Amino acid sequence: MSWRQFWKKPDQDNEQKERPAATPDPPGLGRPRVTPPEQSGTPGQRVLPAHMQRIVEERKRPERPPLDNRAKLARLERARLAAIFDVEQGELAASPVNPWRDRISLLTDAMKTVEEDRRKLQQVEPAPYHPLPTTPILDIAVETEPVASVSFSVGSEWFGFAEERDWAERGHSVTIGELKLRAGDAGALVPADTPDDLIDALRAHLGESLFVFASDMRDRTLDQVELPADATLADLGKPCPVCGGWQDWMGRCQVCRNRDANLQLLKREENRLLSDRAREAEERHRLEERLPVARRRLKDIETEIAALQRQM
Ligand SMILES: [Zn+2]
Repeated sequence: MSWRQFWKKPDQDNEQKERPAATPDPPGLGRPRVTPPEQSGTPGQRVLPAHMQRIVEERKRPERPPLDNRAKLARLERARLAAIFDVEQGELAASPVNPWRDRISLLTDAMKTVEEDRRKLQQVEPAPYHPLPTTPILDIAVETEPVASVSFSVGSEWFGFAEERDWAERGHSVTIGELKLRAGDAGALVPADTPDDLIDALRAHLGESLFVFASDMRDRTLDQVELPADATLADLGKPCPVCGGWQDWMGRCQVCRNRDANLQLLKREENRLLSDRAREAEERHRLEERLPVARRRLKDIETEIAALQRQM
């Protein structure tokens, strides 16, 4: 079956008979009307998909019984107002000063700010650092059953970590719980010669790095990987090659990670602004491009109104 047959209405013949022949639309003035092609077929047999049915319904509308002139005039008046709005929007879009250009320039300014922030963030500030002694980490002991626990000593300080008991009891054999510090004080590992203004930062770093170390010992045991034999306190705070701050046992620098996360946020913001700007430009362009069509439609409607008024 050809696509054209979709447009053929089952009751096409009946409707055409019902259409009053006395009041034809003025030639060339009416809206374009879809005339169903003259074809033979068995009407009503084909079940159209929903979207095609909607199109067919749309096409049927101009074939409704003609409105009386007053109602027709009211309908044309509404169409005229809509067309005027389209023309005005198009003219606004085409004029040198317009709200789309204003919004585009605001978005461009915002993008410049974001770019500037990004550039500033990319300039790496040296992070605070103080070296740690090569005190060996000894007596590393790991239990994995019934709950994971890790212990080790650094100099005279003994550290004990254990998973939350309820993690194991809930039967999560795959999910690994987080270790908690049970014994030991990271502050005891801060070297005596640490400058006063770095003591708190170093204590916080060591607290984190000890946790990372303990977690790695647990994971290695679970993965049956050998434990390190020569780990030292210095390994818990090597200098970061990028910012010079402390790295944790796994070689990760918190300062650099925060910076990278902020850079990613700014990148996302930049992309959002970029697509907003493109959308504004597209809309302005579309309205400007459609202006001649909108003007033509307005003219047609006005001609149709004038013709109708002459009949009334
Ligand atoms: Zn760093």
